[in-house]
Amino acid sequence: MATALKIVPPEDKVTSFVSRTHQMLIHGKWTEAVSGKTFPTYNPATGEVLARVAEGDRADIDLAVKAARTAFDSGPWRKLTPSERGRMIWKLADLIEENLEELAELETLDNGKPLKIARAADVPLAVDLFRYMAGWATKIEGTTIPISVAYTPGVQYLAYTLREPVGVVGQIIPWNFPLLMAAWKLGPALATGCTVVLKPAEQTPLSCLRLGELIQEAGFPDGVVNIVPGYGETAGAALAAHPNVDKVAFTGSTEVGKLILQAAAGNLKKVSLELGGKSPNVVFADVDLDAAISGAASAIFFNHGQCCCAGSRLYVEDKIFDKVVEGVSEQARKINVGSGFDSSTDMGPLVSEEQLNRVCGYLESGFSEGAKAVVGGGRHGDKGYFVKPTVLVNTNEKMKVVREEIFGPVVTAIPFSDPDDLTVQANDTVYGLAAGIWTRDIKKAHRLAGQLRAGTVWINCYNIFDAALPFGGYKQSGWGREMGKDALEMYTEVKAVCSAM
Ligand code: ADP
Repeated sequence: MATALKIVPPEDKVTSFVSRTHQMLIHGKWTEAVSGKTFPTYNPATGEVLARVAEGDRADIDLAVKAARTAFDSGPWRKLTPSERGRMIWKLADLIEENLEELAELETLDNGKPLKIARAADVPLAVDLFRYMAGWATKIEGTTIPISVAYTPGVQYLAYTLREPVGVVGQIIPWNFPLLMAAWKLGPALATGCTVVLKPAEQTPLSCLRLGELIQEAGFPDGVVNIVPGYGETAGAALAAHPNVDKVAFTGSTEVGKLILQAAAGNLKKVSLELGGKSPNVVFADVDLDAAISGAASAIFFNHGQCCCAGSRLYVEDKIFDKVVEGVSEQARKINVGSGFDSSTDMGPLVSEEQLNRVCGYLESGFSEGAKAVVGGGRHGDKGYFVKPTVLVNTNEKMKVVREEIFGPVVTAIPFSDPDDLTVQANDTVYGLAAGIWTRDIKKAHRLAGQLRAGTVWINCYNIFDAALPFGGYKQSGWGREMGKDALEMYTEVKAVCSAM
C-alpha cells in the first residue's frame, strides 16, 4: 500500500480509506470474497495500482442474492412505512453531502475526472437524485378502476391497482460516473421498496464501497443493499443470470447489454438497460454562434467523452461549417489535459489502458479511412491514459468513427445543407440515446426534436440532467428510463385487485 499512500492527495480521510482492505458488503457485514481473491484498481493518471479490492464471483453473488432475498421476503424493510423509507433515503443524501469532498476525491482518484467536476456534478447530482427519490417513496400509488363485467350482470365490483416493489434487483453499473450511476440505480429501487445487489465496475469500485458505509450509517436494514465488486464476466454475469433475482438493471455498452438480456432469459427476470449512443448534435446557420460552439465542445469533451450521450456526431449547416469546426477546435486546444487533482485541469485521463487503446484504435481506423484531425488525434503524454481532445473532419457515414461509439474525446464534424437529408443522417444509427439542436428558430427546433429518434433531445443546451427528467434510449440505446417518475415503473409490478361487492 506504500504506492497508494504516495499517489493519493493529502486528504487524510481519503488516504486512509484508499489504503484500507476493501471488502464486499453482504447482509450488513463487510467480508472477503469466498475465493479469498482480490483485484487491483488503478489510478488512471499514473497507471499505478491504487488499491486492491475483494473480487466477487458466483459464490459471493449467491450469498448477496440470498441476503437481498431474505431482506425482501422476511426482513424489517418491507414493514417500514413509505415515510420511514423516504426518510432513510433522505438521510443517505445528507450523509453523501456531508462527505462530498471525500467522495469527490475518490472519484478523481479512481476514475481520473477533474476534482472540480466531481465536486460540482457527480456528487451533488447523486445527492439530488436520492432526495428526489426520497420524495417518491410516499407517492407510489395505484388507481381505482370502474369496471363493467358483461358476463356477471348485476354484480358490482371494487377494482383497484397496487404498485408493489418488483423484488430483488441486480444492478450492474459502469465506470464513467461511478457514484452517480449507483445513485441512479439505487434511488428508485429503494424508493419503491426493492432490495439490491449492486455490482460496481471493476475499474472504479471505491466510491461505491464508501457509499456502502454511508448506507449502513443511514440505517438501512441488513441485506437491503449488498455490494459485490468484481469483474463483469464473472460477478456481473452471475448476477444477471441468477434465478432468485427478479430484475436486472444495467448501464454499460450495448454489446454487454445484449449479454445481460440473454442471461436474464433463464428466469425471465425484468430487464432495464441504459446502453451506448452515437448522438447527433445539429447546428443550424441561424444560431448564436458562440453558444453553439461552446455547447458543441462541451457536448463531446465533458467527462472526456466518456458519456453514453456524448454529442459525438456534430452536424453543421454548410454555411457556417468552417467557423464552427474552427471554434470547436479552438476550444479543444484550450482544454488543459492533466491530473484531475490539478485545479487548472479541464480533462483528466481516460479510465483505463483498455479505454486508451480503444480510443486510439478508433482514431487510427478513422485516419486509415481518410479522416483528418483538425486538432488532437492521439495520446497525450506517455504516462497515464490521456488522450488529446480531437475534432475529425473528412468523415462519411460509412466510417467506423461515425458509426460506432468511441467513448472518448473525439467528435466527427459533418456538413449538411438540406434539413430533410440531415434528419435522415442524424437518425442513421443503431443508437437513440440523445440529440442536440442549436438554432434560434423554435419552430425548426421543435419540429426536428419530434423527428429525432432519441430518448433525450436538448435544444440550445447539452448534457442537462435532472433527477426529475427521465433519461434512456430508443433503439439499441436501451430499455426503460433512469430518473424521473418513469424510473419507478421499472421497479414496480402492477397488481390488479378485484373485489365483488
Ligand atoms: P465498458 O466496455 O465501457 O467497460 P461494459 O459494458 O463492459 O462497459 O461494463 C459495464 C458494466 O458491465 C461493468 O460493471 C462490467 O463489469 C459489467 N459487465 C461486463 N461484462 C459483463 C457480462 N458479461 N455480464 C454482466 N456484466 C458485465
